[in-house]
Amino acid sequence: MSSDGPTLNDDSPRGGPTPTGHTHSHGNGVHHHHPLTPGQHAHAEGKGAGSARATGSGHDVGLPALPSAVDVFDTTLRDGSQQEGLSLTVDDKLRVAEQLDHLGVTFIEGGWPGANPKDEEFFARAPTELRLSRSTLVAFGSTRRAGVRAEDDETLRHLVDARTEAVCIVAKSSEMHVVDALRTTLDEAVAMVADSVEFLRAHDLRVFLDAEHFFDGYKANPGFTARILQAAEEAGAETLVLCDTNGGTLPHEIERIVTDVVGRFETQVGVHFHNDSGCAVANSLVAVGVGATHVQGCVNGYGERAGNTDLSAAIPDLSLKLRVGTIPAERLELLTPVSHHISELVNIAPNPQQPFVGASVFAHKAGLHTSAIARRSDAYEHIDPSLVGNGTRFVVSEMAGRSTLAMKAKELGLELDSQAMASVLDSLKRLEYEGYHFEVADGSLELLLRHSTGWEQGFFELESYRVIADHGQGQSTEATVKVRVGQERIVSTAEGNGPVNALDGALRGAIGAHFPTLAGVHLVDYRVRVLDSAKGTGSVTRVLIDSTDGDRTWTTIGVSENIIAASWQALADSIVYGLLHARAPEGAPAE
Ligand SMILES: [Zn+2]
Repeated sequence: MSSDGPTLNDDSPRGGPTPTGHTHSHGNGVHHHHPLTPGQHAHAEGKGAGSARATGSGHDVGLPALPSAVDVFDTTLRDGSQQEGLSLTVDDKLRVAEQLDHLGVTFIEGGWPGANPKDEEFFARAPTELRLSRSTLVAFGSTRRAGVRAEDDETLRHLVDARTEAVCIVAKSSEMHVVDALRTTLDEAVAMVADSVEFLRAHDLRVFLDAEHFFDGYKANPGFTARILQAAEEAGAETLVLCDTNGGTLPHEIERIVTDVVGRFETQVGVHFHNDSGCAVANSLVAVGVGATHVQGCVNGYGERAGNTDLSAAIPDLSLKLRVGTIPAERLELLTPVSHHISELVNIAPNPQQPFVGASVFAHKAGLHTSAIARRSDAYEHIDPSLVGNGTRFVVSEMAGRSTLAMKAKELGLELDSQAMASVLDSLKRLEYEGYHFEVADGSLELLLRHSTGWEQGFFELESYRVIADHGQGQSTEATVKVRVGQERIVSTAEGNGPVNALDGALRGAIGAHFPTLAGVHLVDYRVRVLDSAKGTGSVTRVLIDSTDGDRTWTTIGVSENIIAASWQALADSIVYGLLHARAPEGAPAE
């Protein structure tokens, strides 16, 4: 991999095949021996002075010399699952890995074999149950323990037994952590790296070295961090991964330190950032700008505390903005669906404001803005949202003018004549006055717009529903739903842990057999807000339900003085929306 990569002058689409083996941004064959000291910049201009600068074109806007591609290393299944509240079964882990492979990341870190039964089982099942088409599975572990021979070390043995092609081992690279946590000598810490990498290489494994607390360690004692990396390099590690384990390092420090390391070592340099300072993605971009060619992170930025580098942002930033290859170009549009699918698998509601893939990040509110964007979307959107599988949305509320509504209808593929338009505007104003909030309930809004064209849902007809809350043994809620599907009258009863849950069970029990696609629709979140609580029990309850079918998510709303009635409205809308799009996806384009 040479350094004469794409430049700003180059308009051709990038992001083609990413390298599989060693990627080296500075394959000039010269081994530099800069002292590993702070403030060392000498190598920066020598290496890969990309053609933007080399050609001296007037289009150079200060883009650093960039590699043509980087390896994307996803650690959702290992570091990401350290997130509070995130817990994956082995089946979940296999499904997440399939999604990551579908997206086309270079490496998938699957977990720590031997650390817990779940990861043990994952690696046992992976060879037969996981057919990766593109990604390479990586097992995680640590160097040998202090004072133990590599061949006698259990952790290393587990790594070999995991039967992956590549392994990633963590090593303490900060003097303070070696002395305080490991309670051993610096020499032994270096030997632990050398022996472990050598041992794993002798078993034909590709080895990535995760240098833990690297940046803090470098600031305190750069000589020691250099010895750790050197030991790994000499023993045959494929990549030296510099980890900002506590997430406290800022971009200007990253630039300086990564520049120094890249200049000093022949081996590929990777980076692993945590987002504690809100800089994980920025740090990754800066690191790539000075020669790192392996970027670790998690889809959706999962991870403990503030999370890891959000690959859902780092990937499009690199591919679309810096023209550095990451995942295959044609798979970039899978970014949003895969992000949402994985958030469903890990059972964490997607963040609507997540850059690139969030539901709100290309949404535009009524007003001046919305009519302008219809003319020039690039004036208000930093990229074409379809490049990452997202889409422009027009957010409609009672503030909406005719033009916003017309655009929303067009987005949904609906024809609204002026009479229908007037009636929708009327309904919107009235309903929002009653406490509805269509801005956040795209699913219900779509149904409202469809109703204005004379459409009625024909899936089921409600006769009645009833909910009984029982304070007997435990607290259960029982719901009975009576509906007609075609000529058939169906009565169904279900229990749940609350009214929405019980009604959902009863409605599914009643119509599920008629609509098998309903099995793929799930409620993911349920929110209740009491409006105007000054009126006491007469106050109005607003219920919002988020649902998903794995590909798309939608929100529906119900408002009533009665929480059960509000819940039913939101639920019924959610199910109707799910059925509508499951049955006729081509007639009702996705957002
Ligand atoms: Zn980490």
